[in-house]
Amino acid sequence: MLGMTVVTLVAILTTGYIALWAAGDSLRVQREAMAATLAAAVSRTVAAEWAIHGADAGPGKRANLRTLLRSLCESTGAVGLSVIGPDRGEIASWPPRKEGDRDAIVLRTALAGGPPVVNYRPEPQSRETELLAYASIDVAGRTAGAVRVTLAATEPTQAVLRRSGWVLLLLAIADALLVLGLGLFVLTQLVVRPLGQLRRATASMAAGDLDPRIAEDGPKEFAALASAFNQMTVSLANQREQIIRTEKLASVGQLAAGVAHEIGNPLAAILGYVDILRADAAGKGEMPTAERQDALDRVKAETQRIHRIIRELLEFSRPSHEEPVATDPLRVVESSQALLAPQARFRDVRVVTTGGETWPQVLVSPGRLVQVLVNLLLNAADAMAGKGTIVVACQDADGKAVLTIADEGPGVAAENRRKIFDPFFTTKPVGQGTGLGLSVSRSIVESFGGTLELAPAVAGQGAKFVLTLPGVAAVPG
Ligand code: ADP
Repeated sequence: MLGMTVVTLVAILTTGYIALWAAGDSLRVQREAMAATLAAAVSRTVAAEWAIHGADAGPGKRANLRTLLRSLCESTGAVGLSVIGPDRGEIASWPPRKEGDRDAIVLRTALAGGPPVVNYRPEPQSRETELLAYASIDVAGRTAGAVRVTLAATEPTQAVLRRSGWVLLLLAIADALLVLGLGLFVLTQLVVRPLGQLRRATASMAAGDLDPRIAEDGPKEFAALASAFNQMTVSLANQREQIIRTEKLASVGQLAAGVAHEIGNPLAAILGYVDILRADAAGKGEMPTAERQDALDRVKAETQRIHRIIRELLEFSRPSHEEPVATDPLRVVESSQALLAPQARFRDVRVVTTGGETWPQVLVSPGRLVQVLVNLLLNAADAMAGKGTIVVACQDADGKAVLTIADEGPGVAAENRRKIFDPFFTTKPVGQGTGLGLSVSRSIVESFGGTLELAPAVAGQGAKFVLTLPGVAAVPG
């Protein structure tokens, strides 16, 4: 806008300057014409006077002539008027003054008759230029002398030009302000505001929020851009949903394999008890009631265990579209732990949860957070080859819930630290890792306004992931 304002100023001032220059020129021509007309008029007046009273130069006549010149000077605004004889000597002049013979050539031309002639000359001790006009005094077809009219040449023209110059400057400033003000208003309304909206929406998208929509109004191009942006966020949100679901199914697959293995033992036990009970029923039923009761209790307990495992797995695999609710993060850790506990690869893994005095609740969809924690815990168990302790700690950091998940594995190799959150990056054998776990976990956490990072490596310690989520209310420790 400043650039446009400067351009406007320069354009108006240049055009104005050229216009003023042209106007000055035409004023000069007009003034010359006026001087010539004035000289002709005065010469005719003097000619009429001489025609009646004669042109002899007695002192009385000279005084009369000076009085005439004076009154003509006053009524026409001329600076000076002179009557010059055919011998180029001055007969009368107002104001009385001594003239040099600088104008000799022009005077000679005037005395030779013909139309009035004009000439300029600088005034001594003044910057003002004088405009001189000569006209011959013709009495009875004879040139009896000449009249010289002196006019100020530059000052009146310059006064007009100076005034116009000020008007031009004011006009240019007013126009520049108008361009600046109107331009800023238009720019703000039509460009800056929609761009600001787009920038804010993009920033919140970068922070993981795929819900921002921007108003599809304003100028056509911006409306089109806004609509394209909105379509993009919708499609990104759908893709993210899809990826989260895919990754979840991969986890479900892994867990299901573990579950299949895990429910084998209770099923074998149940079958054993059922065989004993059937044999007893087929025989004489000599089994003591207490023993039969015990066998039935064991069948029930094992069945309940299987039921619980299956239920939790089903619960986890169900696509969750829950709205975020205030949730205690450690409860989510416990649910994840319960889901993983029956897995064979968790048999020798201990999960220890610790908390500070208090820690905040977080606004999340619990199912989604379980998915994140299952991922982190499965990775930790894998890194420790199924043996060791995972410490999950929850703390309050300035109103945020900070959950750390530390294992006793080998940690992440330095060359992989930057890559582990990339989709499809995995160091696990084909069929065991999808490489989506961490990237999906991070996108889930970011969609709740949180962050998921790998803590800097500490020699002799395993990997430590730090999950930060904005807190809503403190949970008593
Ligand atoms: P996946 O588990 O399918 O390989 P992830 O995205 O969950 O995919 O993990 C990517 C990679 O990050 C893993 O292959 C592994 O190399 C590394 N990683 C993740 N968690 C840990 C951990 N706790 N300790 C060591 N390396 C880990």
